[in-house]
Amino acid sequence: MISRARRLELFDFYVLEKRCPICSNWPRAERPRRREEIDVIPIQGGICGRCAMAFVKSISARVTAEEHKAVQEARREERSRGLYRLPSQVLRDIRSKAAKH
Ligand SMILES: [Zn+2]
Repeated sequence: MISRARRLELFDFYVLEKRCPICSNWPRAERPRRREEIDVIPIQGGICGRCAMAFVKSISARVTAEEHKAVQEARREERSRGLYRLPSQVLRDIRSKAAKH
């Protein structure tokens, strides 16, 4: 367990939640849902740690080696047909197809 002062020091590049431009104007209970919709973060001024973590989670995914290969192959095939989708969209399709089998 680290002290509050040490924790504040480690995370001082984040702003406090009450000053966060993304979530501070939302009721506390609705902030987690608001954070799922973050598609852009401001370059200046900073955001709170919770919004930063939610943003990173939304743009990254943990995949198995098989899923990684399947996403690469699917995107290569789609690009050859002129279709450009985000890897996260392709991964969602691959997972939903796998869940049906
Ligand atoms: Zn925030």
